[in-house]
Amino acid sequence: MGIVHFVGAGPGAADLITLRGKSLLENADVVIYAGSLVSPNLLAYAKRGCEIHNSAEMTLDEVIDAIEAAVGMGKAVVRLHTGDPSLYGAIREQMDKLAALNIEYEICPGVSSFSAAAASLGAEYTLPGVTQTVILTRAAGKTPVPEGETVRALASHKATMVLFLSAGLLESVAHDLVAGGYMPHTPAAIVYKASWKEEKIVRCTVGTLAQSASGIGKTALICVGDFLGNGYELSRLYASGFSTEYRRAKE
Ligand code: SAH
Repeated sequence: MGIVHFVGAGPGAADLITLRGKSLLENADVVIYAGSLVSPNLLAYAKRGCEIHNSAEMTLDEVIDAIEAAVGMGKAVVRLHTGDPSLYGAIREQMDKLAALNIEYEICPGVSSFSAAAASLGAEYTLPGVTQTVILTRAAGKTPVPEGETVRALASHKATMVLFLSAGLLESVAHDLVAGGYMPHTPAAIVYKASWKEEKIVRCTVGTLAQSASGIGKTALICVGDFLGNGYELSRLYASGFSTEYRRAKE
């Protein structure tokens, strides 16, 4: 029996997949990729004759059937997910079905789009004196969000917040961010297709978020928080008066 590798494709740019992910793709006999989000450029790493399925057109059972058939023939299968598979990847349901079929699998992590967005923004999410927390979440859409995890409830922390899958809900997101505790002048950004050549960044504030999306499609993250502002404190780690395991404090 072959083995199944869930592989994080990274945020889009073909050279932002990991070396391990790339070599798994190069060796795959069958690739099932999330066609709505994974850049087709990544498929160029697959070998000639590799069988390619677009999971955007398949149900969970169809994906599992395709994997089961391939693995039964001893083929190497890559299930390619955008970004890092652990975030909104719907891999747990696949893993549980594979386990029930006694099919072995492994996960290869990827660069998540939230990391790519920070890079594109030239930003650091965790700034001393500003926030030490990043909230990765989504607004409730077709998938409901548990009580206590609404945008409004999470906004009370005023930490850095990155919203996935919410670019189509800007108006209610903006409303809930303010209702929950962010000041309307808190900086925000919409990052569309981070690391793709179509990448677009719109910088705005929480108050102007809903008006700022013109021309932005759905593959976008909403990044919110004072990490996008000017103020912060210097780190202790590199402070001259601070001793670490590797360096003595200077007098
Ligand atoms: N596992 C993925 C997220 C999948 S959910 C990851 O780690 O990034 C799909 C959502 O991710 C999209 O709706 C969008 O909000 C975000 N997304 C994925 N790729 C993106 C990119 N290159 N730029 C901006 N947002 C992206």
